[in-house]
Amino acid sequence: MTRELQNYIDGHWTPATGPAGGQVTNPATGDTVATLDYSTADDVDEAVQAGQAAFGEWANTPVEARIQPMFELKNLLEAQQDELAETLVREHGKTFKEAKGELRRGIENVEVACGIPSMMQAGHLPNAAPEIDETAVRKPLGVFAAITPFNFPGMIPLWFLPYAVATGNAFILKPSEKTPVTAQRIVELVDEAGFPDGVVQLVNGDADAVNALIEHPGVEGVSFVGSTPVARHVYESAATHGKRVQAQGGAKNHIVVAESADLDFAAEQTLGSAFANTGQRCLANPVAVVDEAIYEEFAERLVHEAADMTVADGLSDDVDMGPLISGQHRENVLDYIETGIEDGAKLLLDGREVEVPAEGSFLGPTIFGDVDPDATIAREEIFGPVLALVEASDFDHALDIVNRSDFGNAASLFTDRGSDAKRFRHEVDAGNLAVNAGTAAPMAFFHFGGWKDSFFGDLHAQGEDMINFYTDKAIYIERWPDA
Ligand code: NAD
Repeated sequence: MTRELQNYIDGHWTPATGPAGGQVTNPATGDTVATLDYSTADDVDEAVQAGQAAFGEWANTPVEARIQPMFELKNLLEAQQDELAETLVREHGKTFKEAKGELRRGIENVEVACGIPSMMQAGHLPNAAPEIDETAVRKPLGVFAAITPFNFPGMIPLWFLPYAVATGNAFILKPSEKTPVTAQRIVELVDEAGFPDGVVQLVNGDADAVNALIEHPGVEGVSFVGSTPVARHVYESAATHGKRVQAQGGAKNHIVVAESADLDFAAEQTLGSAFANTGQRCLANPVAVVDEAIYEEFAERLVHEAADMTVADGLSDDVDMGPLISGQHRENVLDYIETGIEDGAKLLLDGREVEVPAEGSFLGPTIFGDVDPDATIAREEIFGPVLALVEASDFDHALDIVNRSDFGNAASLFTDRGSDAKRFRHEVDAGNLAVNAGTAAPMAFFHFGGWKDSFFGDLHAQGEDMINFYTDKAIYIERWPDA
Protein backbone atom coordinates (compact mmCIF):
# COMPACT_ATOMS: atom_id res chain seq x y z
CA MET A 1 0.00 0.00 0.00
CA THR A 2 1.34 3.43 -0.94
CA ARG A 3 0.86 6.03 1.78
CA GLU A 4 0.19 9.67 1.04
CA LEU A 5 2.13 11.63 3.61
CA GLN A 6 0.89 14.90 5.01
CA ASN A 7 1.99 17.66 7.34
CA TYR A 8 0.72 17.68 10.91
CA ILE A 9 -0.10 21.26 11.80
CA ASP A 10 -2.00 22.48 14.84
CA GLY A 11 -3.32 19.00 15.57
CA HIS A 12 -4.56 18.30 12.02
CA TRP A 13 -3.20 16.30 9.08
CA THR A 14 -3.04 18.59 6.11
CA PRO A 15 -1.38 18.39 2.67
CA ALA A 16 1.77 20.42 2.04
CA THR A 17 1.13 23.01 -0.65
CA GLY A 18 4.49 22.90 -2.44
CA PRO A 19 4.49 22.27 -6.18
CA ALA A 20 6.79 19.25 -6.49
CA GLY A 21 5.81 15.91 -5.01
CA GLY A 22 8.39 13.42 -3.79
CA GLN A 23 8.36 9.66 -3.77
CA VAL A 24 9.70 7.25 -1.15
CA THR A 25 11.04 4.04 -2.64
CA ASN A 26 11.80 0.75 -0.91
CA PRO A 27 15.51 0.37 -1.73
CA ALA A 28 15.28 -3.42 -1.56
CA THR A 29 12.47 -3.81 -4.09
CA GLY A 30 12.06 -0.53 -5.96
CA ASP A 31 8.40 -0.40 -4.85
CA THR A 32 6.87 2.98 -4.05
CA VAL A 33 6.21 3.11 -0.32
CA ALA A 34 4.82 6.62 -0.04
CA THR A 35 4.31 9.89 -1.84
CA LEU A 36 4.61 13.33 -0.32
CA ASP A 37 4.43 16.97 -1.28
CA TYR A 38 7.04 19.42 -0.06
CA SER A 39 6.21 22.33 2.20
CA THR A 40 6.45 25.96 1.16
CA ALA A 41 7.52 28.88 3.36
CA ASP A 42 3.77 29.52 3.91
CA ASP A 43 3.26 25.98 5.25
CA VAL A 44 6.23 26.47 7.58
CA ASP A 45 4.85 29.83 8.70
CA GLU A 46 1.51 28.22 9.51
CA ALA A 47 3.27 25.64 11.71
CA VAL A 48 5.41 28.25 13.46
CA GLN A 49 2.35 30.39 14.21
CA ALA A 50 0.47 27.39 15.59
CA GLY A 51 3.52 26.53 17.71
CA GLN A 52 3.70 30.07 19.05
CA ALA A 53 -0.01 30.00 19.87
CA ALA A 54 0.36 26.70 21.74
CA PHE A 55 3.55 27.65 23.56
CA GLY A 56 2.22 29.98 26.30
CA GLU A 57 -0.28 27.55 27.78
CA TRP A 58 2.00 24.56 27.33
CA ALA A 59 4.95 26.30 29.02
CA ASN A 60 2.66 27.11 31.97
CA THR A 61 1.23 23.61 32.21
CA PRO A 62 2.63 21.99 35.38
CA VAL A 63 5.58 19.85 34.45
CA GLU A 64 3.98 16.76 35.96
CA ALA A 65 1.04 17.19 33.58
CA ARG A 66 3.41 17.84 30.65
CA ILE A 67 5.08 14.46 31.05
CA GLN A 68 1.85 12.40 31.17
CA PRO A 69 1.50 12.29 27.37
CA MET A 70 5.22 11.48 27.25
CA PHE A 71 4.61 8.31 29.29
CA GLU A 72 1.74 7.53 26.95
CA LEU A 73 3.99 8.06 23.93
CA LYS A 74 6.54 5.65 25.37
CA ASN A 75 3.85 2.98 25.80
CA LEU A 76 2.52 3.52 22.28
CA LEU A 77 6.02 3.35 20.77
CA GLU A 78 6.73 0.12 22.70
CA ALA A 79 3.42 -1.39 21.62
CA GLN A 80 3.95 -0.43 17.97
CA GLN A 81 7.64 -1.28 17.84
CA ASP A 82 7.34 -4.20 15.40
CA GLU A 83 5.03 -2.33 13.05
CA LEU A 84 7.26 0.77 13.20
CA ALA A 85 10.35 -1.36 12.56
CA GLU A 86 8.74 -2.91 9.49
CA THR A 87 7.80 0.54 8.18
CA LEU A 88 11.35 1.67 8.79
CA VAL A 89 12.84 -1.28 6.89
CA ARG A 90 10.56 -0.69 3.92
CA GLU A 91 11.57 2.94 3.52
CA HIS A 92 15.23 2.67 4.52
CA GLY A 93 16.40 -0.88 3.77
CA LYS A 94 18.19 -1.73 7.03
CA THR A 95 17.53 -5.11 8.64
CA PHE A 96 14.51 -5.64 10.89
CA LYS A 97 16.84 -6.26 13.84
CA GLU A 98 18.69 -2.99 13.18
CA ALA A 99 15.37 -1.15 12.90
CA LYS A 100 14.22 -2.54 16.25
CA GLY A 101 17.55 -1.60 17.84
CA GLU A 102 17.25 1.91 16.46
CA LEU A 103 13.73 2.34 17.81
CA ARG A 104 14.82 1.13 21.25
CA ARG A 105 17.51 3.83 21.30
CA GLY A 106 14.88 6.39 20.34
CA ILE A 107 12.44 5.24 23.03
CA GLU A 108 15.25 5.59 25.59
CA ASN A 109 15.14 9.34 24.97
CA VAL A 110 11.41 9.42 25.65
CA GLU A 111 12.11 7.60 28.92
CA VAL A 112 14.80 10.10 29.91
CA ALA A 113 12.52 13.03 29.08
CA CYS A 114 9.90 11.59 31.46
CA GLY A 115 12.38 12.60 34.19
CA ILE A 116 12.30 16.29 33.20
CA PRO A 117 10.77 17.37 36.56
CA SER A 118 14.11 16.47 38.16
CA MET A 119 16.31 17.47 35.25
CA MET A 120 14.81 20.95 34.88
CA GLN A 121 15.50 22.02 38.45
CA ALA A 122 18.23 24.63 38.53
CA GLY A 123 19.03 25.49 42.19
CA HIS A 124 18.15 27.52 45.25
CA LEU A 125 20.36 29.00 47.95
CA PRO A 126 18.84 30.61 51.04
CA ASN A 127 20.97 33.42 52.51
CA ALA A 128 23.16 33.57 49.47
CA ALA A 129 23.97 37.11 50.64
CA PRO A 130 22.76 39.09 53.73
CA GLU A 131 18.91 38.82 53.77
CA ILE A 132 19.01 37.49 50.21
CA ASP A 133 17.74 34.18 48.86
CA GLU A 134 18.72 33.29 45.32
CA THR A 135 16.93 30.88 43.01
CA ALA A 136 18.01 29.75 39.56
CA VAL A 137 15.25 28.62 37.21
CA ARG A 138 15.13 27.21 33.69
CA LYS A 139 12.50 28.50 31.30
CA PRO A 140 11.37 27.15 27.94
CA LEU A 141 11.82 29.56 25.05
CA GLY A 142 9.18 28.99 22.36
CA VAL A 143 9.21 27.13 19.05
CA PHE A 144 12.13 24.82 18.20
CA ALA A 145 12.74 22.90 14.97
CA ALA A 146 14.69 19.73 14.20
CA ILE A 147 15.89 18.73 10.74
CA THR A 148 16.86 15.09 10.47
CA PRO A 149 18.74 12.79 8.03
CA PHE A 150 17.67 9.63 6.21
CA ASN A 151 19.75 7.05 8.02
CA PHE A 152 17.97 6.80 11.42
CA PRO A 153 14.40 7.90 10.65
CA GLY A 154 13.03 6.51 13.92
CA MET A 155 15.75 7.38 16.40
CA ILE A 156 17.04 10.82 15.43
CA PRO A 157 13.69 12.68 15.66
CA LEU A 158 13.51 11.25 19.19
CA TRP A 159 16.90 12.73 20.11
CA PHE A 160 15.07 16.08 20.17
CA LEU A 161 11.26 15.86 20.30
CA PRO A 162 10.87 14.48 23.86
CA TYR A 163 13.23 17.01 25.49
CA ALA A 164 11.92 20.03 23.56
CA VAL A 165 8.34 19.27 24.51
CA ALA A 166 8.85 18.07 28.09
CA THR A 167 10.77 21.27 28.91
CA GLY A 168 7.68 23.26 27.78
CA ASN A 169 8.52 24.27 24.20
CA ALA A 170 6.63 23.73 20.96
CA PHE A 171 8.44 21.56 18.42
CA ILE A 172 8.45 21.19 14.63
CA LEU A 173 10.06 18.18 12.94
CA LYS A 174 11.28 18.29 9.32
CA PRO A 175 12.29 14.69 8.57
CA SER A 176 14.45 13.57 5.66
CA GLU A 177 12.44 13.56 2.45
CA LYS A 178 14.13 10.23 1.66
CA THR A 179 12.69 8.47 4.74
CA PRO A 180 9.71 10.43 6.09
CA VAL A 181 7.30 7.54 6.69
CA THR A 182 8.51 6.44 10.12
CA ALA A 183 8.41 10.05 11.28
CA GLN A 184 4.80 10.29 10.17
CA ARG A 185 3.97 7.11 12.12
CA ILE A 186 5.72 8.49 15.23
CA VAL A 187 3.78 11.74 14.97
CA GLU A 188 0.54 9.76 14.56
CA LEU A 189 1.41 8.19 17.93
CA VAL A 190 2.18 11.66 19.33
CA ASP A 191 -1.32 12.65 18.24
CA GLU A 192 -2.76 9.60 20.00
CA ALA A 193 -0.70 10.28 23.15
CA GLY A 194 -2.69 13.46 23.80
CA PHE A 195 -0.32 16.41 23.44
CA PRO A 196 -2.23 19.69 22.94
CA ASP A 197 -2.60 20.94 19.35
CA GLY A 198 0.43 22.84 18.06
CA VAL A 199 2.88 21.44 20.64
CA VAL A 200 4.33 18.85 18.24
CA GLN A 201 4.13 19.43 14.49
CA LEU A 202 5.53 17.86 11.34
CA VAL A 203 6.40 19.55 8.06
CA ASN A 204 7.64 17.51 5.11
CA GLY A 205 9.97 18.99 2.55
CA ASP A 206 13.45 19.59 1.24
CA ALA A 207 15.99 22.41 1.50
CA ASP A 208 13.27 25.06 0.95
CA ALA A 209 11.39 23.95 4.08
CA VAL A 210 14.68 23.82 6.01
CA ASN A 211 15.64 27.32 4.98
CA ALA A 212 12.15 28.63 5.76
CA LEU A 213 12.50 27.19 9.29
CA ILE A 214 15.96 28.55 9.97
CA GLU A 215 15.08 32.00 8.64
CA HIS A 216 11.70 32.29 10.39
CA PRO A 217 11.78 34.90 13.19
CA GLY A 218 9.33 32.81 15.24
CA VAL A 219 11.73 29.86 15.56
CA GLU A 220 13.96 30.11 18.65
CA GLY A 221 16.37 27.31 17.92
CA VAL A 222 17.30 24.64 15.40
CA SER A 223 18.73 21.14 15.77
CA PHE A 224 20.22 19.66 12.64
CA VAL A 225 21.65 16.22 11.83
CA GLY A 226 22.99 15.45 8.37
CA SER A 227 26.02 15.86 6.11
CA THR A 228 28.82 18.29 6.97
CA PRO A 229 28.27 20.84 4.16
CA VAL A 230 24.58 21.20 5.07
CA ALA A 231 25.38 21.22 8.82
CA ARG A 232 27.80 24.09 8.24
CA HIS A 233 25.19 25.98 6.19
CA VAL A 234 22.46 25.44 8.82
CA TYR A 235 24.81 26.52 11.62
CA GLU A 236 25.87 29.70 9.88
CA SER A 237 22.41 30.64 8.61
CA ALA A 238 20.60 29.90 11.90
CA ALA A 239 23.21 31.91 13.83
CA THR A 240 22.87 34.79 11.36
CA HIS A 241 19.13 34.70 12.02
CA GLY A 242 19.73 34.95 15.77
CA LYS A 243 18.88 31.38 16.76
CA ARG A 244 20.30 28.76 19.03
CA VAL A 245 21.71 26.03 16.84
CA GLN A 246 23.30 22.63 17.17
CA ALA A 247 24.35 21.03 13.88
CA GLN A 248 25.71 17.49 13.70
CA GLY A 249 27.58 16.66 10.52
CA GLY A 250 29.24 13.75 8.76
CA ALA A 251 31.99 11.47 9.97
CA LYS A 252 34.91 9.23 9.11
CA ASN A 253 35.70 7.25 12.24
CA HIS A 254 38.59 4.96 13.09
CA ILE A 255 39.06 1.72 14.95
CA VAL A 256 42.56 1.22 16.31
CA VAL A 257 43.55 -2.42 16.78
CA ALA A 258 46.59 -2.64 19.07
CA GLU A 259 49.01 -5.55 19.14
CA SER A 260 47.58 -6.84 22.43
CA ALA A 261 43.94 -6.92 21.25
CA ASP A 262 41.78 -10.05 21.34
CA LEU A 263 41.68 -10.48 17.57
CA ASP A 264 38.52 -12.60 17.33
CA PHE A 265 36.55 -10.09 19.33
CA ALA A 266 38.10 -7.09 17.57
CA ALA A 267 37.33 -8.60 14.15
CA GLU A 268 33.70 -9.29 15.03
CA GLN A 269 33.26 -5.76 16.38
CA THR A 270 35.06 -4.13 13.46
CA LEU A 271 32.78 -5.85 10.95
CA GLY A 272 29.69 -4.91 12.95
CA SER A 273 30.86 -1.33 13.17
CA ALA A 274 31.76 -0.96 9.49
CA PHE A 275 28.83 -2.82 7.92
CA ALA A 276 25.81 -2.40 10.22
CA ASN A 277 23.15 -0.24 8.56
CA THR A 278 25.09 -0.97 5.32
CA GLY A 279 27.78 1.43 6.52
CA GLN A 280 25.31 4.32 6.58
CA ARG A 281 25.99 5.39 10.16
CA CYS A 282 27.73 8.43 11.54
CA LEU A 283 29.17 6.13 14.23
CA ALA A 284 30.44 3.50 11.80
CA ASN A 285 34.19 2.95 11.91
CA PRO A 286 35.06 2.50 8.22
CA VAL A 287 38.83 2.85 8.81
CA ALA A 288 40.66 0.20 10.85
CA VAL A 289 44.19 1.23 11.86
CA VAL A 290 45.97 -2.02 12.67
CA ASP A 291 49.33 -2.58 14.35
CA GLU A 292 51.80 -4.02 11.83
CA ALA A 293 52.56 -7.00 14.10
CA ILE A 294 49.02 -8.36 13.68
CA TYR A 295 47.97 -6.67 10.45
CA GLU A 296 48.09 -9.70 8.12
CA GLU A 297 46.34 -12.02 10.55
CA PHE A 298 43.65 -9.47 11.36
CA ALA A 299 43.00 -8.67 7.69
CA GLU A 300 42.60 -12.37 6.89
CA ARG A 301 40.05 -12.82 9.68
CA LEU A 302 38.02 -9.83 8.53
CA VAL A 303 37.90 -10.96 4.93
CA HIS A 304 37.06 -14.53 5.87
CA GLU A 305 34.13 -13.47 8.06
CA ALA A 306 32.82 -10.65 5.86
CA ALA A 307 32.71 -12.98 2.85
CA ASP A 308 30.06 -15.01 4.72
CA MET A 309 27.67 -12.10 5.23
CA THR A 310 24.21 -12.43 3.72
CA VAL A 311 23.08 -9.36 1.79
CA ALA A 312 19.33 -9.27 1.19
CA ASP A 313 16.03 -7.50 1.85
CA GLY A 314 16.07 -6.33 5.47
CA LEU A 315 12.80 -8.15 6.12
CA SER A 316 14.10 -11.58 5.07
CA ASP A 317 15.37 -14.17 7.55
CA ASP A 318 19.04 -14.42 8.49
CA VAL A 319 20.01 -11.25 6.67
CA ASP A 320 23.21 -9.47 7.76
CA MET A 321 23.05 -6.40 5.56
CA GLY A 322 20.32 -4.62 3.58
CA PRO A 323 20.62 -2.35 0.52
CA LEU A 324 21.95 1.20 0.29
CA ILE A 325 19.35 3.96 0.45
CA SER A 326 19.12 4.44 -3.34
CA GLY A 327 20.57 3.50 -6.71
CA GLN A 328 22.10 6.97 -6.90
CA HIS A 329 23.88 6.49 -3.58
CA ARG A 330 25.08 3.04 -4.71
CA GLU A 331 26.67 4.74 -7.74
CA ASN A 332 28.48 7.16 -5.40
CA VAL A 333 29.84 4.26 -3.35
CA LEU A 334 30.92 2.41 -6.53
CA ASP A 335 32.83 5.55 -7.59
CA TYR A 336 34.71 5.45 -4.29
CA ILE A 337 35.59 1.78 -4.88
CA GLU A 338 37.05 2.76 -8.29
CA THR A 339 38.96 5.61 -6.64
CA GLY A 340 40.39 3.22 -4.05
CA ILE A 341 41.64 0.89 -6.80
CA GLU A 342 43.09 3.78 -8.85
CA ASP A 343 44.89 5.11 -5.76
CA GLY A 344 46.65 1.77 -5.32
CA ALA A 345 44.80 0.19 -2.38
CA LYS A 346 44.50 -3.60 -2.43
CA LEU A 347 40.92 -4.83 -2.92
CA LEU A 348 40.77 -7.74 -0.45
CA LEU A 349 37.00 -8.29 -0.70
CA ASP A 350 35.05 -6.88 -3.63
CA GLY A 351 31.45 -6.13 -2.68
CA ARG A 352 30.54 -5.82 -6.35
CA GLU A 353 31.18 -9.56 -6.72
CA VAL A 354 29.15 -10.64 -3.68
CA GLU A 355 25.88 -12.41 -4.43
CA VAL A 356 22.99 -9.96 -3.88
CA PRO A 357 19.33 -9.84 -5.00
CA ALA A 358 18.85 -8.70 -8.60
CA GLU A 359 16.43 -5.88 -7.70
CA GLY A 360 17.29 -3.00 -5.39
CA SER A 361 20.38 -0.95 -4.53
CA PHE A 362 22.45 -3.73 -2.96
CA LEU A 363 26.21 -3.85 -2.59
CA GLY A 364 28.23 -6.44 -0.69
CA PRO A 365 30.80 -5.74 2.02
CA THR A 366 34.01 -4.38 0.55
CA ILE A 367 37.42 -4.41 2.24
CA PHE A 368 40.51 -2.56 1.05
CA GLY A 369 43.97 -3.38 2.45
CA ASP A 370 47.23 -1.40 2.41
CA VAL A 371 45.34 1.88 2.32
CA ASP A 372 47.40 5.06 2.52
CA PRO A 373 45.96 7.06 5.47
CA ASP A 374 45.93 10.16 3.27
CA ALA A 375 44.07 8.46 0.39
CA THR A 376 40.56 9.63 -0.53
CA ILE A 377 38.89 6.41 0.68
CA ALA A 378 40.57 6.81 4.08
CA ARG A 379 39.64 10.48 4.51
CA GLU A 380 36.23 11.11 2.91
CA GLU A 381 32.89 9.90 4.20
CA ILE A 382 31.70 7.16 1.82
CA PHE A 383 28.60 6.18 3.83
CA GLY A 384 28.53 2.66 2.46
CA PRO A 385 29.88 -0.83 3.18
CA VAL A 386 33.53 -0.04 2.45
CA LEU A 387 36.18 -0.77 5.09
CA ALA A 388 39.73 0.57 4.66
CA LEU A 389 42.61 -1.15 6.50
CA VAL A 390 45.59 1.02 7.34
CA GLU A 391 48.81 -0.42 8.78
CA ALA A 392 50.36 1.43 11.73
CA SER A 393 53.99 0.96 12.76
CA ASP A 394 53.16 1.47 16.45
CA PHE A 395 50.58 2.99 18.80
CA ASP A 396 51.92 6.56 18.36
CA HIS A 397 51.57 6.20 14.61
CA ALA A 398 48.01 4.89 15.01
CA LEU A 399 46.96 7.84 17.19
CA ASP A 400 48.52 10.25 14.72
CA ILE A 401 46.48 8.75 11.85
CA VAL A 402 43.25 9.04 13.85
CA ASN A 403 43.90 12.66 14.79
CA ARG A 404 44.78 13.73 11.25
CA SER A 405 41.13 13.29 10.26
CA ASP A 406 39.04 16.36 9.48
CA PHE A 407 36.19 14.69 11.38
CA GLY A 408 35.91 13.86 15.07
CA ASN A 409 32.66 12.03 15.61
CA ALA A 410 33.92 8.81 17.19
CA ALA A 411 36.81 6.37 17.56
CA SER A 412 37.29 2.91 19.05
CA LEU A 413 40.32 1.08 20.42
CA PHE A 414 40.86 -2.65 20.87
CA THR A 415 43.59 -3.41 23.38
CA ASP A 416 44.46 -5.45 26.43
CA ARG A 417 46.56 -2.66 27.95
CA GLY A 418 45.21 -0.02 30.30
CA SER A 419 48.03 2.34 29.36
CA ASP A 420 46.91 2.30 25.70
CA ALA A 421 43.34 2.94 26.79
CA LYS A 422 44.40 5.86 28.95
CA ARG A 423 46.42 7.48 26.17
CA PHE A 424 43.54 6.92 23.71
CA ARG A 425 41.07 8.58 26.07
CA HIS A 426 43.33 11.57 26.64
CA GLU A 427 44.83 12.08 23.20
CA VAL A 428 42.18 11.27 20.58
CA ASP A 429 40.27 14.29 19.23
CA ALA A 430 36.78 12.85 18.89
CA GLY A 431 33.56 13.27 20.83
CA ASN A 432 32.55 9.62 21.33
CA LEU A 433 35.29 7.19 22.33
CA ALA A 434 35.07 3.47 23.00
CA VAL A 435 37.57 0.95 24.32
CA ASN A 436 36.90 -2.68 23.36
CA ALA A 437 33.55 -1.75 21.79
CA GLY A 438 33.08 -1.27 18.05
CA THR A 439 30.56 1.55 18.21
CA ALA A 440 30.80 4.44 20.67
CA ALA A 441 27.04 5.01 21.01
CA PRO A 442 26.16 6.64 24.34
CA MET A 443 22.92 5.88 26.19
CA ALA A 444 20.24 8.58 26.06
CA PHE A 445 21.07 9.96 29.51
CA PHE A 446 24.53 10.96 28.21
CA HIS A 447 25.11 13.59 25.55
CA PHE A 448 25.90 12.46 22.01
CA GLY A 449 27.86 14.45 19.50
CA GLY A 450 31.11 14.81 17.68
CA TRP A 451 33.95 17.31 17.34
CA LYS A 452 35.73 19.05 14.47
CA ASP A 453 33.84 18.89 11.14
CA SER A 454 31.36 16.44 12.67
CA PHE A 455 29.70 19.10 14.81
CA PHE A 456 28.94 22.82 14.78
CA GLY A 457 27.70 24.31 18.03
CA ASP A 458 28.33 23.61 21.70
CA LEU A 459 25.41 21.74 23.28
CA HIS A 460 25.07 18.20 21.94
CA ALA A 461 22.05 15.91 21.46
CA GLN A 462 20.49 13.77 24.22
CA GLY A 463 20.69 13.99 28.00
CA GLU A 464 21.43 17.11 30.02
CA ASP A 465 22.75 19.09 27.03
CA MET A 466 19.22 18.98 25.65
CA ILE A 467 17.84 20.58 28.80
CA ASN A 468 20.35 23.41 28.43
CA PHE A 469 19.60 23.77 24.73
CA TYR A 470 15.84 23.95 25.19
CA THR A 471 15.78 26.29 28.19
CA ASP A 472 17.31 29.56 29.28
CA LYS A 473 18.34 30.23 32.84
CA ALA A 474 17.13 33.08 35.01
CA ILE A 475 18.05 34.10 38.55
CA TYR A 476 15.56 35.39 41.12
CA ILE A 477 17.04 37.40 43.96
CA GLU A 478 14.67 38.02 46.87
CA ARG A 479 15.05 40.21 49.95
CA TRP A 480 12.40 40.52 52.70
CA PRO A 481 14.04 42.89 55.22
CA ASP A 482 11.22 42.59 57.78
CA ALA A 483 11.67 38.85 57.94
P1 NAD B 1 21.70 15.54 4.21
O1 NAD B 1 22.63 16.57 4.72
O2 NAD B 1 21.61 15.33 2.74
O3 NAD B 1 20.19 15.84 4.68
C1 NAD B 1 19.88 16.06 6.04
C2 NAD B 1 18.68 17.00 6.12
O4 NAD B 1 19.04 18.25 5.55
C3 NAD B 1 17.46 16.50 5.38
O5 NAD B 1 16.32 16.72 6.18
C4 NAD B 1 17.43 17.34 4.11
O6 NAD B 1 16.13 17.62 3.67
C5 NAD B 1 18.12 18.62 4.53
N1 NAD B 1 18.91 19.25 3.47
C6 NAD B 1 19.59 18.61 2.47
N2 NAD B 1 20.24 19.51 1.71
C7 NAD B 1 19.97 20.73 2.21
C8 NAD B 1 20.37 22.05 1.85
N3 NAD B 1 21.16 22.29 0.81
N4 NAD B 1 19.92 23.08 2.59
C9 NAD B 1 19.11 22.85 3.66
N5 NAD B 1 18.72 21.62 4.05
C10 NAD B 1 19.13 20.57 3.33
O7 NAD B 1 22.09 14.18 4.96
P2 NAD B 1 21.54 12.70 4.69
O8 NAD B 1 22.11 12.20 3.42
O9 NAD B 1 20.08 12.65 4.89
O10 NAD B 1 22.21 11.92 5.92
C11 NAD B 1 23.49 11.38 5.90
C12 NAD B 1 24.49 12.31 6.58
O11 NAD B 1 24.09 12.57 7.91
C13 NAD B 1 25.88 11.66 6.69
O12 NAD B 1 26.84 12.64 6.40
C14 NAD B 1 25.95 11.24 8.15
O13 NAD B 1 27.25 11.14 8.68
C15 NAD B 1 25.19 12.35 8.79
N6 NAD B 1 24.72 11.95 10.12
C16 NAD B 1 25.34 12.49 11.19
C17 NAD B 1 24.97 12.12 12.46
C18 NAD B 1 25.65 12.70 13.66
O14 NAD B 1 25.17 12.48 14.76
N7 NAD B 1 26.75 13.43 13.50
C19 NAD B 1 23.93 11.19 12.65
C20 NAD B 1 23.31 10.65 11.52
C21 NAD B 1 23.71 11.05 10.25
